[in-house]
Amino acid sequence: TAQFDINDIRQQFPALAQECNGQPLVYLDSAATAQKPHLVIETIRQYYSGHNANVHRGSHSLTAAATAQFEQARETVQQFLHAASSKEIIWTRGATEALNLIAQTYARNTLQPGDDILVSELEHHANIVPWQIVAEQTGARVVKIPMRPDCTLDLEAYHTLLTPRTKIVAVAHVTNVTGTRNPIEAMITAAHAVGAVVVVDGAQAVVHETIDVQALNADFYVFSGHKMFAPAGIGVLYGKQALLEAMPPWHGGGKMVEKVTFEGTTFSALPGKFEAGTPNVAGSLALAAAIKWLNNLDRDAAEQHIQALRQKALDGIKDIEDLRIIGLQPHASLFSFVVDGVHHQDIATLLDQQGIALRAGHHCAHPMMDALGLSGTLRVSLALYNTEEDVERFIAALHKTCSLL
Ligand code: PMP
Repeated sequence: TAQFDINDIRQQFPALAQECNGQPLVYLDSAATAQKPHLVIETIRQYYSGHNANVHRGSHSLTAAATAQFEQARETVQQFLHAASSKEIIWTRGATEALNLIAQTYARNTLQPGDDILVSELEHHANIVPWQIVAEQTGARVVKIPMRPDCTLDLEAYHTLLTPRTKIVAVAHVTNVTGTRNPIEAMITAAHAVGAVVVVDGAQAVVHETIDVQALNADFYVFSGHKMFAPAGIGVLYGKQALLEAMPPWHGGGKMVEKVTFEGTTFSALPGKFEAGTPNVAGSLALAAAIKWLNNLDRDAAEQHIQALRQKALDGIKDIEDLRIIGLQPHASLFSFVVDGVHHQDIATLLDQQGIALRAGHHCAHPMMDALGLSGTLRVSLALYNTEEDVERFIAALHKTCSLL
């Protein structure tokens, strides 16, 4: 039976046991990347100590075992996303590569001059720049879905912007600066009504909620392993099978081909068509291990734990002079703030000296920062391994820092 015991969880993360600048580390930057549990680290070690072999090639026992594990890992991801088929799960290096793949295959072959790509103003650069590149290549336009001052999307504007010219809508499930949960269910329904496909950036969502791509009716859904306790360098593109079948390949090379001649080449069936070259097998196995690890926990209890810590942090800092929470969202795992008159980087540096790791800057979201009229924020992002003590240390350190500056 699933359970959630913070003491047990905490000791599974070796990186959290270290000191930073002479103080026990308080890691509040999990939205940038999460720390890894023993089980995930051990999966990588075991793979390279054991079945390491190239997959889908050769005819010896090691390659057969590696291939079986690699394809099982794909099925684990399929179940995690509730996708209809493992053919709809494409391994990528991360969310960024998955978004670029969609832009350079689906979008590049579909878009015409005069078509619109609607992109939310709350996006990470990874869900903006690939659309700008393909717009340049095809003559399509990138059109902004504006945000409101409370850092939620302006849905009235969205409905007005949706027209028969709209071919693609790109939106984050959960955003990385404020943790805004976009109403993607309604956005997908409305996009489909004008014949557009929806690309959902799930980078910040998958670790915190159960994802059902079929219930969402998302056309594409992407995420990175490293934000959900797996290593960096592995990620996932989910696409509806019919869309993936119709898309041309992107990278060319081994494994993505059926037959190569100098007269022409035929391509592999899904998912191989989009997986040129030797894949990150250890990364795939480690991502599957991270999913299984997460599924063995009481995820609702984990989220309640995170919510309680966030509330404690917010309560503990609310009286600091000139401190403003930016776009506070209900039920997020993170929050952003500024202290008027003090540069965010100065605060981050002083916190770092006290062993507190958090993120300061624009969070790869220049358009959102511009809309807010800010050069950056400080961001506290929590994971299930954070403790009350972490939050108490953060509160005390921030009070001390602000009294110095
Ligand atoms: N989208 C969002 C919302 C993110 O937070 C991030 C990572 N900061 C990305 C996309 C990009 O992910 P990656 O760098 O792992 O490709």
